[in-house]
Amino acid sequence: MLRYVGVEKTKELIAKIGIETFLTELAGYIEEDFKRWEDFEKEPRYASHSSGGVIELMPISDGQQFSFKYVNGHPKNFEKGLQTVTAFGVLSDVETGYPILMAEMTLGTALRTAAMSALAAKYLARDDSKTMALIGQGCQAEFQTLAFKAILGVDTLRLYDVDVKASEKFVRNMKERGFDIKLCQSSQEAVKGADIITTVTADKQRATILSDNMVGAGVHINAIGGDCPGKTELAPEVLNRGRVFVEFEEQSRIEGDIQQMPDDFEVTELWNVFSQGVSARQANDEITIFDSVGFALEDYSYLRYVYEKSNTFEMYDHLDLLALPEDPKNLFGVL
Ligand code: NAD
Repeated sequence: MLRYVGVEKTKELIAKIGIETFLTELAGYIEEDFKRWEDFEKEPRYASHSSGGVIELMPISDGQQFSFKYVNGHPKNFEKGLQTVTAFGVLSDVETGYPILMAEMTLGTALRTAAMSALAAKYLARDDSKTMALIGQGCQAEFQTLAFKAILGVDTLRLYDVDVKASEKFVRNMKERGFDIKLCQSSQEAVKGADIITTVTADKQRATILSDNMVGAGVHINAIGGDCPGKTELAPEVLNRGRVFVEFEEQSRIEGDIQQMPDDFEVTELWNVFSQGVSARQANDEITIFDSVGFALEDYSYLRYVYEKSNTFEMYDHLDLLALPEDPKNLFGVL
């Protein structure tokens, strides 16, 4: 039987560990794996595009374990009462090729994206960053916010979403979490006085969520929603204002906000930063930008973390996915 951590077991694990501890520990696993970057066989994800969205497969291996995630991105799904992003993942033992874990990863993607964002900001944002502007209050928003609270101590939020109901949902979910929250009428208003700007919107087009005149000195930008060809959030002028950091350059040039920039536009892969172990910020007034698209290594780290924690707390189910005859040559005997 294959170990299975579905939605219910994921909820149990989070309740047992506590979501902020979960996000902090997960960021530690991601950091550890990025520091051994050269161990991994890496490639940009496979993406099957359609007019409404994309379906992607994200594989990676370090020669010991292999993982992949299935994930979609359909920004208009909400019109049918469906989510933009859903996902599941598998972790396998390379020696035998047998899968050892299958996990839901809709929650997992939100958790690992948030942990990665806050980890990048720990190395890039100013140490005294406490106020975050959050543009977009969809599914990823609360996870992003809690990771920034747990890892950086962010306690003040300035929100804007074109859909006021999304902002109200966010306030309901976060009201007991100790944040000072202000609802704003525009992105321009939301970014005022922010130390960190997180853009986490969904729209399959070249959107301009942040324009040059909205970004002040010393700000760290955590740009999450531009993660597909033809789907961006930052005006190109913003990318010229500061240093840009990415997960895996080859994939980010196809999918990230930097798809708008020339091929020789300079970026730094984050594994370089994490490996130094010290802040990469060069000055208090520098603008830093994490152009996040989501990379397979973050999913690998998530599955590795969930595998270990589900073992520790014995929180998993068994999935009848593999035909496993007693005599390995007698598959027909299973029938
Ligand atoms: P969602 O559909 O649940 O939420 C998106 C929100 O953005 C909605 O509330 C929508 O009203 C709002 N929005 C759209 N256009 C806006 C605008 N111009 N100004 C302000 N708000 C606007 O989506 P989600 O699951 O929260 O994902 C958000 C984005 O993050 C998507 O584009 C998704 O593809 C991307 N994503 C990236 C990663 C990564 O690793 N980088 C991981 C997961 C999701």
